[in-house]
Amino acid sequence: MPARPASVDTLVIGAGLAGLSAAWHLQQGGAVVHVVDAADHVGGKAKSEQYEGFTFDVTGHWLHLRDPGIRDLVLGLCGDDHFMRIERLSRIWSNGVYTRYPFQANLYGLPPEVVHACLMGAIAADRALPAEVAIADEPENFADWIRFYFGEGIAEHFMVPYNAKLWGVPAERITSRWCQRFVPRPRLSDIVAGAVGCNEKAMGYNATFLYPKQGGIQTVAEALGDAVGRDVIHLEAEVVGVDHGARTVHYADGTRTTYRRLVNTISLTRFVDLLGAAVPAEVRAARAKLWATEVVYLNVGVEGPLGQPDHWIYVPEPAWPMYRVGSFSNANPAMAPAGDSSLYVELADRETPPEALVPRVTEGLIAMGLIDDARRVRFAHARRIPDAYVVYDFAYHDARDAVHGWLGAQGLRSIGRYGDWNYSSMEDALIDGRRTAAELLES
Ligand SMILES: Cc1cc2nc3c(=O)[nH]c(=O)nc-3n(C[C@H](O)[C@H](O)[C@H](O)COP(=O)(O)OP(=O)(O)OC[C@H]3O[C@@H](n4cnc5c(N)ncnc54)[C@H](O)[C@@H]3O)c2cc1C
Repeated sequence: MPARPASVDTLVIGAGLAGLSAAWHLQQGGAVVHVVDAADHVGGKAKSEQYEGFTFDVTGHWLHLRDPGIRDLVLGLCGDDHFMRIERLSRIWSNGVYTRYPFQANLYGLPPEVVHACLMGAIAADRALPAEVAIADEPENFADWIRFYFGEGIAEHFMVPYNAKLWGVPAERITSRWCQRFVPRPRLSDIVAGAVGCNEKAMGYNATFLYPKQGGIQTVAEALGDAVGRDVIHLEAEVVGVDHGARTVHYADGTRTTYRRLVNTISLTRFVDLLGAAVPAEVRAARAKLWATEVVYLNVGVEGPLGQPDHWIYVPEPAWPMYRVGSFSNANPAMAPAGDSSLYVELADRETPPEALVPRVTEGLIAMGLIDDARRVRFAHARRIPDAYVVYDFAYHDARDAVHGWLGAQGLRSIGRYGDWNYSSMEDALIDGRRTAAELLES
């Protein structure tokens, strides 16, 4: 492990994709940068675990690269041959049947009364929709937004229950402002076409993705870590305090580093806490309004093949403890031992110990046709991701702006999915690092 210097020019806290990207882009501009991370590996959430011949990411981490510069960077560092290019295979399982994703544009195959309710609701919503809707005029809460655009049936049969399971809070408590980019909004003609089984359009922001041929998603972070230089990445260096007045970070082992410039990528709430007494009361009050829900999931090793081909399957019905089941090995068989398969099962029930949910999950996997016998489950290991989904409730925007406003005035930058405090992708984290580097190099 490289020795941590006592004094550096630019210090980046966090060796996830945002921190590594910031460091790499700063280096391209000639800056001298050091990166510190509490973990013993680079990658943050983009990490992979290997055991018993299986490789698991932190649930599905599928790479969507739309930005040409980031695409060139990732393919340049990893090598074009590093990735498989995969067409999304993803469906919804409800009412005991599978329908294609997105639900709203693929109602075909559902029980007739469900299709009828969804179509009548969509027609009523479409009739009520003004010709032009400015974003500011959209309903404020997410449940109303769903009904406004899709109608009552689609809301009730998929969107409202699914989102409540995913976010861990009812859609009424979430603002609609987070979702414009992520929720596909087909036209009524597409909804009708999908209801009679002739919608051929692949919708949504993730219709194709890249995935490493070997080693899981962490290989992307490792390539970036190599490019940044292992001599300037300091692992097992947990920051426990930041004295920005003295331009000093303090580590759990009692050591410290002084810096000229600081870029933070750990969670915004934790970062504010680390800044301690320097934070004014109103900023602390704003920080207290920011919160996130945990993701609890199971890494499941399965003996033999799976009965369904999907990369991930949405499970909206409240009767089942999981909201999504994905398969690494369906995307890339090298993620499991030859002939075997792997699943990740994301659990809506965050309270019950996950081990206690395994029998009901297994029942679900059988009902979904993924496995034919509970004995095919070789293991189901529980994992938790604290603060995984930032909750966009009604306090979110003002509170987050207040915190960033104050940090900015101190010359502090807090970026990445958690540093910025948003819902975003790996590519967004890489873009954030690049943008921040450009701003710092110009300043
Ligand atoms: C369940 C889930 C599924 C996802 N699926 C996808 C997907 O399919 N596709 C996609 O593109 N994106 C996906 N994402 C998003 C993706 O994981 C993130 O956008 C991206 O990894 C964020 O990178 P980051 O660097 O901003 O944050 P992080 O990866 O969280 O990095 C922050 C780093 O800070 C370190 N750290 C924390 N505290 C301290 C401390 N006190 N001192 C020092 N270091 C510290 C951590 O160890 C970590 O390495 C998913 C996220 C989740 C939670």
